Amino acid sequence: MKDPVCDMDVTEKNDASEYEGKVYHFCCASCKMAFEQNPKQFIKE
Ligand SMILES: [Zn+2]
Repeated sequence: MKDPVCDMDVTEKNDASEYEGKVYHFCCASCKMAFEQNPKQFIKE
């Protein structure tokens, strides 16, 4: 799986955030924070 913010490879052990029923994983806290502030910017359908 990939970090939706920076496109780095991440695993289920990485920090996660849930949005609209889907769980996303992040390489670091700052990517997670950026995603949580504006999830729609980072989600590609
Ligand atoms: Zn990242």
